Amino acid sequence: MIKLDKKFGRVNYCHVCNSKKLSCVVKIGSTGLCDSLLTKKQLSKHSEKSYPLNLYRCKKCHLLQLDYIVNNKKVFHKKYPYKSGITKRLKELLFANSEYLFKNFKFSQKPLAIDIGSNDGTLLEGYRKKNFSVLGIEPTNIANLANQRGIKTIKRFFDLKTAKIIKNKFKKAEVITGTNIFAHVNKLNSFVKGVKMLLDEKKGLFVTESHYAVDIVDDLQYDSIYHEHLRFYLLKPLKVLMENYGFKVIDAVRIPNYAGSIRVIATLNHKIKSKPSVNKILNMEKKRGFYSEKKYKKFAKDIFKSRNQIIKLLKKLKNKSKSIVGIGCPGRSITLLAFCNINDKIFDYIAEQKSSLKLNLYTPNTHLKIIDEKNFFRQQPDYAFLLSWHYQKSIMKNLRKKGFKGKFIIPLPYPRIVN
Ligand SMILES: [Zn+2]
Repeated sequence: MIKLDKKFGRVNYCHVCNSKKLSCVVKIGSTGLCDSLLTKKQLSKHSEKSYPLNLYRCKKCHLLQLDYIVNNKKVFHKKYPYKSGITKRLKELLFANSEYLFKNFKFSQKPLAIDIGSNDGTLLEGYRKKNFSVLGIEPTNIANLANQRGIKTIKRFFDLKTAKIIKNKFKKAEVITGTNIFAHVNKLNSFVKGVKMLLDEKKGLFVTESHYAVDIVDDLQYDSIYHEHLRFYLLKPLKVLMENYGFKVIDAVRIPNYAGSIRVIATLNHKIKSKPSVNKILNMEKKRGFYSEKKYKKFAKDIFKSRNQIIKLLKKLKNKSKSIVGIGCPGRSITLLAFCNINDKIFDYIAEQKSSLKLNLYTPNTHLKIIDEKNFFRQQPDYAFLLSWHYQKSIMKNLRKKGFKGKFIIPLPYPRIVN
């Protein structure tokens, strides 16, 4: 069974299969936590904590993982600022989860859907519209927001203990979802056992959506390597993980979320037939070399090439006294900023929407101030550097509509300027 249940700090074995045959893919360095932004007071204190950020690969089951786990109470602290309903596009993507399930599977009357890491309850809103009873589980204060909106949410980390509490109060769930959370959990053993306890044995579907390692490597999304993401999944290690606990993977779909994710559906009922998509994706992974060392050597080389190009471009623009402002401050931006050492000598500041909980805070390591985007439209800097580059189309359209006249810089996979 999986050992990964209590340990913080260094991990020298595979999170999924326990193998010690790990090889280093890339060392990003040491960075602060991406959602522990700093107050002005903290800037002058010099008490900033950084943690190692290195990507390793299991040679046995092909899982990509970090070799260091930060205490999850530090990562998902009570003031964690992320709200999933914040962008319109993200809202659509979260609703797509219930749309897909509803279209492809059959459910009873008024079944229960549980979302783990439910944030502000946006995903469950989709299920509620489809006549499900819904229950969210969310450890941060954002749970209060969901409850205020009428999405019943328990403020706790999900593990076996939480599952026991739920089991006594609710019926078995026909859907349990974990979107972009399955990569975050450190108590993987307790987590999956908890899901098993709450899922209906006959009809229940366990639906995970994870940032997909194929897209991360293909598009050079090294900015998505940060401490919240302990693991990056191919379908293969996900299947190994599920089977370790008696689940059968019956469906897998590539979806556009977070610039490329994979939705995997598993069940405890082994009579349900797997869709052809499962084998199709496994074959693709193998054929394209994702189970071989060579692929990741090239990945690492390209990461440094991309970084050098970004640094070179920004230096060139600053030598010409151009003004540059970062747009948006998603979690992944912290890795990119730190890795390319983009500080306040390069960016004037980072602009965020008025509704963002990150306003007036500073990025760890690079100490860029995050301010209301109205300053950005007033100032009209020469360049807008898209830190949420994975939503580039809608962001550029939106900034133009609101009156931005300068140029855009899209950093990844390799930096380019768009007029
Ligand atoms: Zn492994």
